[in-house]
Formats: sequence, C-alpha cells, structure tokens
Amino acid sequence: MPDATFACPDLTTFCRLDELGLVAVGQRVEPQRAVIACRVVEPDDWCHRCGQHGVLRDTVVRRLAHEPLGWRPTVLEVLVRRYRCADCCHVWRQDMTMAAEPKARLSRRGLRWALEGIVVQHLTVARVAEGLAVSWNTANDAVLAEGKRVLIDDPHRFDGVTTIGVDEHVVRHEALLIRMEVRDLHRLAVVAVG
Ligand SMILES: [Zn+2]
Repeated sequence: MPDATFACPDLTTFCRLDELGLVAVGQRVEPQRAVIACRVVEPDDWCHRCGQHGVLRDTVVRRLAHEPLGWRPTVLEVLVRRYRCADCCHVWRQDMTMAAEPKARLSRRGLRWALEGIVVQHLTVARVAEGLAVSWNTANDAVLAEGKRVLIDDPHRFDGVTTIGVDEHVVRHEALLIRMEVRDLHRLAVVAVG
C-alpha cells in the first residue's frame, strides 16, 4: 500500500459543498441528473436588524445548478431556514452568499465550472447550459456577469502580464456575435473580454 491516506466517502467534500457553506443531507440519482439536498451550515439565527435571537418560521427550498459530476447535471436543493425576530418582527433567510450570488440560479462552483468551460476548455455556451441543465440565456447571463466581475473589474488584472495574445471565436453563430478575448499567454488567464 502506498502511504496515501483515505477519508470516509463524503458527498459534502466530494461535491465541494463545504466551500459553499453547505452540507449534503440527501441524494437522488436520476438517469439524467443528480439532485443533492443540502442545508446551510451557519445557523444565521440572530436578527440582522436588532441582534435578538430569531425564531424559526419555516424552511424554503432554493435550487441551484451545480458543477456537473461525471457529465451528469447536478442540482442542489438547498433547504434555507427563515427566521422571524420576536422583537422587531424582521424576517430573514439564512445567508447563502457563500453558495451563490443573491438570486443566482447557479452555485458558485457551477458558475466557476461554466466560466472555465468557456474560457479554458472552449466549450460553447450551449454545451455549458446542457451541462448545467439550464437555459442558454441563464448560462450566458451568468457567465458574462461572472466574467465581468472576476476579470474585468479586477484593477490588477494586468499585473505580472508579460505577453498577451488575442483570440477571436464566434460565440453565437446565429447572431454572428464575435467575442474577443485578451489572454495572458503565460498564465492562460483571460484578462479582458469584449
Ligand atoms: Zn430584530
């Protein structure tokens, strides 16, 4: 035996849900997709307004497209607690910003997978949408917003860049939209998208 150590099989770490502040509590494997039921780890049960302890009101389900595992779309069904403050009547949900942007349809890992698929693997938006089991528009909007957030809004994106190249490819044939990427050829990172 090599000296590699094994931990117990664990869906939470295998699916990188721990990075999202989530813990897996169930799984449903269907032929076309896998669904993982999760809870938010942090209770977040103190009033966001006045700091009093909140009372559990109910639980809502938020669905997020996660990175596909084994090329099968993976959906997270996150059970999110809603609390009510007895003092100031404020109602809030558990904070899920580690898992996804507010109102986003993709988990942060799903978004990362989509962005890397397009930028690094040169997958089409259609292929990425299929992998996530979301619509073309949902995938496209999410990737553009995330690309802008992590690449273009970063004022230090040209730090350390010594060689840049330009790569053009057709993103959407039917609309004849051409995307131009400026890449740092040493780090293989896209530093601007236009
Ligand atoms: Zn309160």
